[in-house]
Amino acid sequence: ARKMIVGNWKMFGTAPMLAEITAIAAAPAGNAKLAICPPFTLIERAARAAQGSALAIGAQDVHAADKGAHTGCISTAMLIDSGATLVIVGHSERRADNFETDAQVKAKATAAVTAGLEAIVCIGETEAQRDNGQTLTVIETQLAGSLPDAADRLVVAYEPVWAIGTGRTPTEPQVAEVHAAIRAHLEKRFGAPGAATPILYGGSVKPENAANLLGLPNVDGALVGGASLTAASFLAIAAAV
Ligand code: 13P
Repeated sequence: ARKMIVGNWKMFGTAPMLAEITAIAAAPAGNAKLAICPPFTLIERAARAAQGSALAIGAQDVHAADKGAHTGCISTAMLIDSGATLVIVGHSERRADNFETDAQVKAKATAAVTAGLEAIVCIGETEAQRDNGQTLTVIETQLAGSLPDAADRLVVAYEPVWAIGTGRTPTEPQVAEVHAAIRAHLEKRFGAPGAATPILYGGSVKPENAANLLGLPNVDGALVGGASLTAASFLAIAAAV
C-alpha cells in the first residue's frame, strides 16, 4: 500500500498559508498519499485549493454527535460539507488540553468512520510512562479504549508525547517495537482488515529523518506537525517515501 503523509497544522494558519496548500497540490503526485489538516477555518478554502489534485484535506477534531446544542463544536456533516475527507481524533494535545478520554475519542472516531470520513486515531505514551517501562501497556489501553469497533476507514497514529515538537524521536528499534505491538492488536481485534490498517508515526518527523522512520516495519506513513507548515519541508518528507 502507498504510504500516507499527513500534515497536522495545529493552531497555525490564516489565509496567506493557503499558498502552501496550493503548492503541495501542484507538486507531482509521487509515491505517497498526501493530506493536510488545517484549522477548521481554512478547511473549505484549502479543499477548494486542492480540488482536482491528489491532496486530501482533513480536520483536527470532530464532535461525536450529529448535531445539537454544543456551542463551538463541529460535526462530521459540517466537515464533509466543507470538503474534508479525513479527521484526526484523540491527539495528545486534545487529550491533555481538553481532557479527552479514550471513550470520547472512540465516540468521535466511530462518528467519523460512520459518516464516511477516514479517522486517524492518535495514541502515545508520555516520557514518564516510557521511563517507567509502561509504554506497551499504555498503548494497549489506549488502543482498546479509543478505536472504533471496526477497521473500516481507520488509521492509527503512534505519537510519543515526548517526541512532539521537541526534536527528539524514539530510536528505530523503539518505533518498530511499538508499531509491531499496534499491528498485533489490530490483527487480533479485526483480522485481515487490521493487517491492512495504516499505522503512522508522528513526533519530530523532518526531511532529515523521514526516510529512516518510513523504512521501518509497520510504519505506513507519518503524521507531521511543524514540518508540514511549509510546502517545501512537507514535500521533502513526502519525497523520502
Ligand atoms: P511535530 O512534528 O511538530 O513534532 O508534531 C507532531 C504531531 O503532533 C503531529 O500530530
